[in-house]
Amino acid sequence: MPVTRPFALPVLTAPTPTTAVASTLTHSDATTWLRHVLGGPTWLHLPGEDTRRCRVITTLLHGNEPSGLLALHRWLGEAPRPKVSLAVLVANVAAALSPPLFTRRTAPGGRDLNRCFRPPFDDPSGVLARRIADDIAAWAPECVIDLHNTSGSGPAFAVAIHRAPAIERLASHFCDQLIVTDFRLGSLMELPLTVPALADCPIFTLECGGARDPAALEVAGSVYRRLGDWPDLATLSTAPALEVLVHPLRVELRPGASIAYARQPVPGVEVTLWARIDTCNRGVTDPGTCLGWLGEGGLAHLRATDARGFDRIGELLCTRDGRLFPRRPLRLFMATTHADIARSDCLFYVVPK
Ligand SMILES: [Zn+2]
Repeated sequence: MPVTRPFALPVLTAPTPTTAVASTLTHSDATTWLRHVLGGPTWLHLPGEDTRRCRVITTLLHGNEPSGLLALHRWLGEAPRPKVSLAVLVANVAAALSPPLFTRRTAPGGRDLNRCFRPPFDDPSGVLARRIADDIAAWAPECVIDLHNTSGSGPAFAVAIHRAPAIERLASHFCDQLIVTDFRLGSLMELPLTVPALADCPIFTLECGGARDPAALEVAGSVYRRLGDWPDLATLSTAPALEVLVHPLRVELRPGASIAYARQPVPGVEVTLWARIDTCNRGVTDPGTCLGWLGEGGLAHLRATDARGFDRIGELLCTRDGRLFPRRPLRLFMATTHADIARSDCLFYVVPK
């Protein structure tokens, strides 16, 4: 397989449309392909009819979010012929291959790769993130879409770090909601803030839906197809259904508080969330919806810090007889039902309606 430099990570390139890449797929399911052909972080380069322009898609930054990889494998099997060159990064192969397959967010001993795109870069996760950043700049892309799965079930949505017509035009063809966040966590979509060559490049995260949602595979597949097919991104129109939600808050567990997911309060646990709180990822959650149960101490076990550091939990949630309710109509996002993600990241994101 030809390897192109000066990229920091290996590049599998297809000199004629996709033949080299497609040949690696023969008799190979996605897992075998990941393990034996890719084996580590790898770029797939698909030269388009127009090789002067390139669009970048990244996926599998989190090893437990396989829809982007599975859709890529399926799409490559169709021997696509993109009009504009595509560069696709399969990033955190080590995390994905850690047993059990596609269940580990991070590589063994590694950090969350989508929190590593800012200094320090002095451990293996930071080194990989910096190589990814350098390579993305080297592709000089027209746009970058970073494909993820949500940890719970739900519809696709996009996340960006600022409002930009180019991002809204693109995102609106893949989902109906774009969240503009002012949290800075060191994620890949923050690269325009630190890499001058990418300052004007539209970059966003596309949460395709849950890892087990069949719809997530379709959303991810449409990203490869459309980015390969669209002749000119500047002439795209913004789909009217797109709703832009600005500055969500993260609802987190306070350090030391215990959490469980169940259909009734768990004795001795401070925060019990409703076992299917991920169904609140669709639509508006009204103040009559019971989200869970709080032990002694109530809301003091939770916090919702905004980007300026103010805790706004009391504006969002309230308790009645030990039960947890929205104080006002809320849009919930990324509500997880995994206690480990709730502890290490957050319970859900929320935008007051
Ligand atoms: Zn992710």
